[in-house]
Amino acid sequence: MDVAVIGAGQAGLAVAFHLRDLGARLAVLDAGPTAGGAWQHRWPSLTLGRTHRLADLPGMRELGLSFDDAPSGLPARDAVPGVLAQYERAYGLLVARPVRVTRVTRTQGVFLLEAAPGSAVPVLESRVVVSATGTWTRPRQPVVPGIDMFQGSQLTTPEYPGAGAFAGMRVAVIGGGLSALGFMDELAGTASEIRWYTRRPPQIIEDASSELGLARGRAAVAAQDAAASAGLPLPSIVSATGIPLTPPVRRLRARGLLHAHPMPVRLSPVGLVSSDGTTWEADAIIWAIGFEPALDHLRPLGVPGTGSGLRVDKGRVAGMPGLMLAGYAGQASTISASRAARATAAFARAYLAGSTDWPV
Ligand code: FAD
Repeated sequence: MDVAVIGAGQAGLAVAFHLRDLGARLAVLDAGPTAGGAWQHRWPSLTLGRTHRLADLPGMRELGLSFDDAPSGLPARDAVPGVLAQYERAYGLLVARPVRVTRVTRTQGVFLLEAAPGSAVPVLESRVVVSATGTWTRPRQPVVPGIDMFQGSQLTTPEYPGAGAFAGMRVAVIGGGLSALGFMDELAGTASEIRWYTRRPPQIIEDASSELGLARGRAAVAAQDAAASAGLPLPSIVSATGIPLTPPVRRLRARGLLHAHPMPVRLSPVGLVSSDGTTWEADAIIWAIGFEPALDHLRPLGVPGTGSGLRVDKGRVAGMPGLMLAGYAGQASTISASRAARATAAFARAYLAGSTDWPV
């Protein structure tokens, strides 16, 4: 192969779109059972109307396809994969599924990709690799003393089954992002009690549609990209953008639930212990504390983890010519992934044509 794209979520597909003329010299590999990237795994109650806006991928409009046309009441896990499947078909983006790439190595300038047993393609060689594997498979794991002692249930964002599973329960929701607030809004109808814990309460932006909101968004993306190119830990997006005052956030405020408690210092068998020694008894804890990039398959290349020296400049992994990340850092939204895809494809072409312009 000339180019292997690992991951066929929105980021991988947008890059593949710009490289589709490579035909059989382009491989797109995806671990999932079907089209849609992580969207197919979102919790059932996350409707399109409850997400941020989804920006169309390059070339979608030309097909008469748009996320905007999907009814806002549809679950995102059905609507988004439906649109992405049409996009793949219409542009002839042949995605090999399921192929979970477990190991990438490199010999004499050629990458060797090895996949998990049972994958549709067991092994593949390619001159360029674009890894677009997202974060969904890497929810941050909580670290707090006593975590194994707690006798209630604990789950992370990807495991959230919907509010119905928490009927009558006392639920602690931990995290300062949109997912945490969305969970609380849903739980308000079913749980008997809800308590919100977060390290830093997010700023609530009263007028999210303003120029200021857009400027904050741009600044957050720029901060992510600056950290990525310097090899520093990626800053939190929400700490830069704040949380827009959407209808669910308004409802939480009206219910008095927008009051954040400091993080528990430990868990006891029955609940969450605060620094003053008091315990809030809970039946369940939802850890909505964010995600890490899924990069394990690149470790055999010696690629360090985010914040441990991994430097990524405009998608190119420093010191590893031919290796790119898509959907990483400032590219982690539909709009930014779509915008960045053209440049990623251009770097791939230039590299294949012999360019040595690569961050060292
Ligand atoms: P993913 O969608 O995660 O796709 C990665 C693909 O790679 C998957 O198909 C996976 O199976 C595959 N993969 C992973 N590892 C391997 C491997 N080793 N080998 C082969 N394949 C692999 N953004 C917006 O712009 N608007 C929104 O409204 C919005 N809402 C969001 C709501 C939630 C709850 C979350 C978590 C994020 C949201 N985002 C939103 C952010 C972002 O758009 C999504 O996270 C999006 O899914 C990221 O796309 P991606 O292509 O980078 O990764």
